[in-house]
Amino acid sequence: MAYVITSACIGAKHAECVDVCPVDAIHPHPGTPEFEQEEMLYINPDVCIECGACEAVCPVNAIYHEDFVPEEEKEFIERNRAYFAK
Ligand code: SF4
Repeated sequence: MAYVITSACIGAKHAECVDVCPVDAIHPHPGTPEFEQEEMLYINPDVCIECGACEAVCPVNAIYHEDFVPEEEKEFIERNRAYFAK
């Protein structure tokens, strides 16, 4: 189980979450070429320790625990995982 970033991040990429994550699970990092290329940020489900810090700071409420991702956003569970499988 992990937290998941959903569609509200697309085009937003505020990235406060990157700074608060204690295990560096959220990528890409601002200032990298990948950050400019990607339309949103992603959480590595194999690294996330489910602390919830990212959910609390997201200004667009894009982050949910996997168990509470809204039905219409469930595709993002796989999209987050897929980013790190590249
Ligand atoms: S829940 Fe905690 S560990 Fe998981 S991505 Fe968010 S800040 Fe990082």
